[in-house]
Amino acid sequence: MDISELGEFGLIKRITENISLENSSTLKGVGDDCAVMQYPQDNVTLASSDILMEGIHFDLTYCPLKTLGYKAAMVNFSDIYAMNGMPEQLIVNIAVDKRFSVEQIDEIYEGLKWACQNHHVDLVGGDTSSSLTGLVISPTCIGSAPKSQVVYRNGAENTNLICVSGNLGAAYMGLQLLEREKQVYRQQNAEHPESPIDFQPDFSGKEYILERQLKPEARRIVVETLRNAGILPTSMIDVSDGLSSELLHICQQSNTGCLIYEERIPIDYQTAMMAEQFNLNVITSALNGGEDYELLFTVKLSDYDKVKTLEGIRIIGHITPPQQGCMLQTRDGNTFELKAQGWNPLQD
Ligand code: ADP
Ligand code: MG
Repeated sequence: MDISELGEFGLIKRITENISLENSSTLKGVGDDCAVMQYPQDNVTLASSDILMEGIHFDLTYCPLKTLGYKAAMVNFSDIYAMNGMPEQLIVNIAVDKRFSVEQIDEIYEGLKWACQNHHVDLVGGDTSSSLTGLVISPTCIGSAPKSQVVYRNGAENTNLICVSGNLGAAYMGLQLLEREKQVYRQQNAEHPESPIDFQPDFSGKEYILERQLKPEARRIVVETLRNAGILPTSMIDVSDGLSSELLHICQQSNTGCLIYEERIPIDYQTAMMAEQFNLNVITSALNGGEDYELLFTVKLSDYDKVKTLEGIRIIGHITPPQQGCMLQTRDGNTFELKAQGWNPLQD
């Protein structure tokens, strides 16, 4: 169905119907000029916005619309979790061009609503516009945390343990695979322009890295696990631009150095296999790949016994005095300075 058949108000009505609100902090959702929220008095309110532009942040050649909606919400929730908070409301601005049908917008919203459901977030509003330059999705997430529980980037201290959840580099390898298959497809079609081929990329055995790229999951579970274990991190950040870059943010803002160990960096089997096929250094990919949406945090040394038993959390190093710099120790005992872009042992 053409969007013009529905008009702006018809479209808004369609994408926002059947929204059920589940948080007591949501007093009013879609339907008025503003959403209305009220949080308990000793809580702080957290807010974070993202913008996802077609051609810059996603490629519709291989990005299904439903998972794109899901990912847009997840990257936004991830920022709230990175403050040790819980996301509670989502506001979504969307701009679409004439190529999009009503059914395709439905798909994006299915993904957004699916993400909200999984993370107990209320979709409470947004704005809708047409676009001349492709699809734009801009979510804003609002959440909260007890004031005493908010974790900033600047709280790391000397001797703190550096921890990371899950594993790293998988989303980056997923992207490399998708980009390669796109090139193969383009090349084959360029050779036979008169009869577009039915291209079937072989993704078997690579499902995990593809999912990490296309449908990431924000780490609510990590925030819950830490709370249940009685651990309050001293600093925290989500890994969107790569481990190196995020660790440098923590150290710069906390005025510390750090030392992490190559052998401690968690890497999934599929990530390692794919890196080998692409002739990429898997550690470089894990350090600089990005889009992992894992949580990187520091804890007091006295929390060692608690943190070492937590499933899915790896201690990868420790915080050092600022004059020692931000360092990576390799398996063979050499140390390299961490850089925001591209640590490469072959270049150094
Ligand atoms: P206004 O003219 O005040 O911007 P709109 O007609 O754009 O109002 O929006 C009407 C209601 O629908 C508002 O509650 C708004 O938050 C909601 N809304 C509009 N667009 C979207 C969207 N893309 N996703 C979710 N809610 C939306
Ligand atoms: Mg509006």
